[in-house]
Amino acid sequence: MTTTTATTAETGVTAMVELRSVRKSFGSLEVLKGVDLTVAAGEVTVILGPSGSGKSTLLRTINHLEKADAGWVSVGGTLIGYRRSGDKLYELPEREVLKQRTRIGFVFQDFHLFPHLTVLENVVEAPVWALKRPRAAATASAKALLARVGLADKAGAYPRQLSGGQQQRVAIARALALEPGLLLFDEPTSALDPELVGEVLDVIKDLARQGTTMIVVTHEIGFAREVADTVVFMDDGRVVEQGAPDDVLNAPRHARTKAFLSKVL
Ligand code: ADP
Ligand code: MG
Repeated sequence: MTTTTATTAETGVTAMVELRSVRKSFGSLEVLKGVDLTVAAGEVTVILGPSGSGKSTLLRTINHLEKADAGWVSVGGTLIGYRRSGDKLYELPEREVLKQRTRIGFVFQDFHLFPHLTVLENVVEAPVWALKRPRAAATASAKALLARVGLADKAGAYPRQLSGGQQQRVAIARALALEPGLLLFDEPTSALDPELVGEVLDVIKDLARQGTTMIVVTHEIGFAREVADTVVFMDDGRVVEQGAPDDVLNAPRHARTKAFLSKVL
């Protein structure tokens, strides 16, 4: 058996993100039960589903924080853990996995800012360390990013001095500082007071308009309807239904999608 890195040319995968038959268990608990997902470059995919359905695990698998037990994951045409029907096994070396992870932005529900660093330092550190950018250039870019998320005047503040909505906007600026080809959001507004949700969604909508490829796990149905190219409904470790927002949200075909939507709408 040979182990190698598969290229787009070899596999024909051209989507930004492609998952095929991905399975993942924690001990005896199977959390992903054969997930297929395709996200084209420049598209926004919104993932809906009840708590415990595997949404976070799916994002973590795409970001290579979890390794699929079976199936394969491709980001930007580079495959991880791909086995052809023949006996050729493709596996990305760990160094390449880490490199690819720096090209994927991840925004968490609870912000994950560094509390002892200022807002500006939070945005500057990642490109300096992960991309070896000169500090002066990283600082200039960080200031531009903070302006883009409406926080130019908070550069010198510490995270604890900001509202949740402001902290999440810093987290988005920090993710953008790595110039990611793909942005993943895991319930980015779930920890926020209702009146702060809008300012964060506005920043995400702005990114969508600029053609950033994104996968957003959220319960914000209005956002999904307005911004998503594709809505994916997950339940019990499977993609139950996916399609255009109009179809999935207005005319769901599966009983479980209907039941979920009737609760959150
Ligand atoms: P969701 O994001 O849809 O709420 P998760 O992907 O977080 O779902 O979790 C799916 C299931 O997997 C849950 O039952 C959760 O408890 C379990 N789980 C997630 N991560 C781990 C882990 N690291 N170890 C054990 N169980 C986990
Ligand atoms: Mg989750």
